[in-house]
Amino acid sequence: MNYTSTRSKDTSISASQAILKGIAPDGGLFVPESIPKMDFSLKAIADMSYQQLAYEVMKLYLTDFTEEELKGCIERAYDAKFDTEEIAPLVSADETYYLELFHGKTIAFKDMALSILPHLLTTAARKNHIDNEIVILTATSGDTGKAALAGFADVPGTRIIVFYPKNGVSPVQEKQMVTQKGDNTFVVGITGNFDDAQTGVKKMFGNAALAEDMNKAHFQFSSANSINIGRLVPQIVYYFYSYALLLRNEEIEEGEKINITVPTGNFGNILAAYYAMNMGLPVNKLICASNENKVLFDFFGTGAYDRNRDFILTSSPSMDILISSNLERLIYRIAGNDAEKNTAFMRSLTENGKYEITESMRKGLADFYGNYASEEETAATIKRIYDACGYVIDTHTAVAATVYDKYRKETKDTTKTVIASTASPFKFARSVMCAIDPALDSMQDFDLIDKLSETANVPVPAAIEEIRTAPVRHDTVCETADMEKTVRGILGI
Ligand SMILES: *Cc1c(COP(=O)(O)O)cnc(C)c1O
Repeated sequence: MNYTSTRSKDTSISASQAILKGIAPDGGLFVPESIPKMDFSLKAIADMSYQQLAYEVMKLYLTDFTEEELKGCIERAYDAKFDTEEIAPLVSADETYYLELFHGKTIAFKDMALSILPHLLTTAARKNHIDNEIVILTATSGDTGKAALAGFADVPGTRIIVFYPKNGVSPVQEKQMVTQKGDNTFVVGITGNFDDAQTGVKKMFGNAALAEDMNKAHFQFSSANSINIGRLVPQIVYYFYSYALLLRNEEIEEGEKINITVPTGNFGNILAAYYAMNMGLPVNKLICASNENKVLFDFFGTGAYDRNRDFILTSSPSMDILISSNLERLIYRIAGNDAEKNTAFMRSLTENGKYEITESMRKGLADFYGNYASEEETAATIKRIYDACGYVIDTHTAVAATVYDKYRKETKDTTKTVIASTASPFKFARSVMCAIDPALDSMQDFDLIDKLSETANVPVPAAIEEIRTAPVRHDTVCETADMEKTVRGILGI
């Protein structure tokens, strides 16, 4: 299985090379030349552990990894770092199923992929005889940054630099990042928003002069952002796993279709569900949930993607995104895997901030339903579900639950539905607790966390306990325009 770029048909590289490069030199994203079909039966996966299933799914994509290499990566990733043996438990609540993807080190779903990416990357470097030190350069809207830092901290042969919007992440998210340990970790706040950070990082990846100077000093970039195929592939696993758990618990019959609802920002998580569906997972609808930054809702409704609008800071900051990078992989596919067509759309997005797909391409969106949740609706959903069943969900998951409610009311579809629960409520304790009782807003951050623990009847996760007293180790802030200068400073070039 080789990988090609969404922007040039002549690219064809191995999986390990695609993981190392992160993004194609032409600015495109790597995609498998075709989406592989599952070569296992649904019945067979019903009894598999997360690790076994991860191997079955990932081996279809990472074909140049040996069995030993891939199993080694999986074993080192999905171990006692997770606070439950199930890795991603499925919780039945409010007449639906919540796939809890937040049991890793940093209590958000990014851990699912970022626990394994460092192992995939260092294995890929070994396979390709890379001697340079690998510099992970990442822009984060909050959760990726910490999950990447935790994954790469003190991994030999790597260094990690994370840029985040100084005023665009939650206090817990920021504290988690700036207290990160590890001599190879660097965290920088920028004065802009997430899109500025992402654009700045993308520019550096495409900067030939910078690449040359780095190479002279024995460095090379790689990306831990969700555009890396090494992030996308591990995320496909848990959609199969949720299906396996539903089968195991006799909630569905083999072959029965399910809906999957995903709170969406950069479109990586839901794209993984789309890949799972195209591999053969029985899916009826992929429900794409946005917050008030509803570019995707508008896109699904009109076929026009338009980022020319105000950027809204919401209580679900990891979804505060106006350019959903991974959407490019879907555009490429519904354009008939046509790199030229896709490139024209992406050029229009860069130059005009918008593009409009053709009528025939719109037919390719039939698997999706898009909607969004306002801030008020999101808070009301948290309260409603808590009142109804004592289950406390975070703000991102609440966006998804709200949109799923809208979908159900609109369509009367009763297909069993899995909602991707992307963060622990402890990560967004203030928003969550104030949704349940606005009077709590006067409490201090950590008092709120204790209150949440009491309310949800869930112990405070280790990831939160850790930062209670941890010293700040990173306090660099830079102007958006100075990102390259900052990186050069860190690398001493
Ligand atoms: C990153 C993130 C999302 C959005 O996922 P995408 O793959 O970027 O669409 C949703 N919720 C949480 C908690 C996240 O960290």
